[in-house]
Order: sequence, then structure tokens, then C-alpha cells
Amino acid sequence: MLGFSLFISAAAFADAQSKNERAPIRFLLTFDDGPSGATKRNPTKKILDVLANNPIQPEIKAIFFVQTRAKRGGGTEVGRLLLKREQDEGHLLAFHTATPHHSNHRKLPPEQFEQSLRFGVTDMIEATGVPPTLVRPPFWNYDARTLAEYHRNGLQMLLTDLSANDGVIWGVNWSWHKHSNLLKQLTAAREKWLEGKLPIVDGETPIVVTFHDVNTYTARTIEVYLKILLQVANELDMPVANKAFYDSRDGLERAAKARVVIDADVNAKLPGIWNWIWH
Ligand SMILES: [Zn+2]
Repeated sequence: MLGFSLFISAAAFADAQSKNERAPIRFLLTFDDGPSGATKRNPTKKILDVLANNPIQPEIKAIFFVQTRAKRGGGTEVGRLLLKREQDEGHLLAFHTATPHHSNHRKLPPEQFEQSLRFGVTDMIEATGVPPTLVRPPFWNYDARTLAEYHRNGLQMLLTDLSANDGVIWGVNWSWHKHSNLLKQLTAAREKWLEGKLPIVDGETPIVVTFHDVNTYTARTIEVYLKILLQVANELDMPVANKAFYDSRDGLERAAKARVVIDADVNAKLPGIWNWIWH
């Protein structure tokens, strides 16, 4: 019994010691699938308003993985104006698709896939003045071929640590499990953080979090999500940076670049059911 409690104390001590050696975490917010082309109650617009002005941390900057030619989104006049607004307000725009729909890059005919990357780069230069440097694959699906093609087009691929799992709407657009879902995922990230497996950038450990800005529920609830992120970090005894969320485009880009997938042979952990579907 004594041996057992000594073992527990040693483990707790090691945990406390490695926790103290770890750099504080900082939440790197990312939004996929936008912009929305809605003319009323536009969710992308709502999210931009909240990021700019909220009681938790004003002027939060995020990465938007955009669909530049989506039929009801980036391909509309409303959508194009929102891309410009995201850029003007200091967010980082990154590539998701340049097809009319949310196409799986692995399933597009290769020529069409390659052409869509060229379209995407051109569209984004038009919106921001610079080519995109980051990509997130639709449905989190990639392989050695699609990853190599991203790299040929100057795009580095970013996945995620935490996902609100708000991309697919399963019947009722309501998440009952926001807190438990994020707690569970941050618990998994915490293991890697304690083991020193998460890169440190500018003295902080970026934790990538994914939402979908075309989801009206997410738009209505985004402030609650920000609070929950701080709450679960506190519950898991993970110190957060002075500013818990990123506040500059350069900072976002440096942090994201430290987390990109270099090698398609390494099976990265995907959020939600996607790991089970693709691996
Ligand atoms: Zn997507």
C-alpha cells in the first residue's frame, strides 16, 4: 500500500513538474467553409463582429479556411465582400476549396483538383493581395498525392487539436455537449503538451481549434464557446497565455506553420468521426 501511494505521489510530482516546464497554451481559432453568402443574419458577419468586440478578449484574430467559389458563399457578392472584410480586419485567410461545392480533394479527378488549387490561389490573391500559404483539406481527407500537390502550390496543411464538431448538422442544429466535447479533446491535447510533443512558438503552445462560420448556431454561440475554452483549460490546470487568443495575423501564421503536416505517412489524429472514416 505504501509502495502504491509512493508511486502515485511520484507520478503526481512528475506531472506537476512537467506542467511547470511547459509553455502556456494559446488558442488558435480557425473557421472552415465560409464565407456565408446569406443576405440576412449572415453567420460569418456575426462571427467577425463577436471576434472584434466581446467581453473576453476584444480584437481576436482567426484563420478562415475559405471556399472562394462556393455557390451560396464565397462565389457571391456578399461572400466576396466578407473575404475582403476578413482581410481588412487583420484575420488570416487560408484555402479550403475553389469548387462550387465542398469537394473532397482526393475524389476529384486529378486535373480538376490541380485546377481548383490554381483557381483558389488566384481568387485569394484577388481578395487579399497575397497568395495563401495554408490549406485545410475538406472532410480532413488527404493522401501523399494531394499533400504533395498542396506543397507544389505553396500551401502547407493545417489540421486541428480541438473541433466543435459543428461542420455536419445531424438533424437538429444544437450542440448539447459543447463543454464535455471540448474538455475531452483538450484532455487528449494535454497529454501531448505534458510530454513536450506540442511545438512552442513565441513562448506559447498553440492549440488549434476548429469551428464552421457558416453554421448559424456557432455564430449565435461563439462567445459561449470562447468562455468554455478558458473554462476547460482552467479545469485541466493548463495555464493560458496573457492573451488567451491570437491577436495578430503574423502571430497566427507563425503558430500555424509550426503545426502543419509535413509527411502524409504519419497518420495524424483527425477530429470526430473522421479518424474512423479515413484511417
Ligand atoms: Zn469544410
